[in-house]
Amino acid sequence: MTSSQPRVIVKSDPARLTIEWLDGHKTVYAIAQLRAVCPCARCVSETTGQRVHDPRSVPADLTHQGVRLVGNYAVSIVFADGHDTGIYSYAFLRDNDPGS
Ligand SMILES: [Zn+2]
Repeated sequence: MTSSQPRVIVKSDPARLTIEWLDGHKTVYAIAQLRAVCPCARCVSETTGQRVHDPRSVPADLTHQGVRLVGNYAVSIVFADGHDTGIYSYAFLRDNDPGS
């Protein structure tokens, strides 16, 4: 699925993550928004699928301390609040596009 493959990932702004997709679409994510939808096992219960992390606890000005590529399908984000276990697949990011 080329629509969920990034062409360029811009991580120079610590409060934002910008992805230009192969199909030409461009998405700007606030880091706080990505923290709020973190899909990792510490934020979402693996047994019930329910979110156990409160998205309202995320400060709107949250920044990241690093964004790493995971294979060719995802990025992992080290958040300034110390949380670093979230893996965001490109398909997940595309699904959570705030502009669509
Ligand atoms: Zn998490």
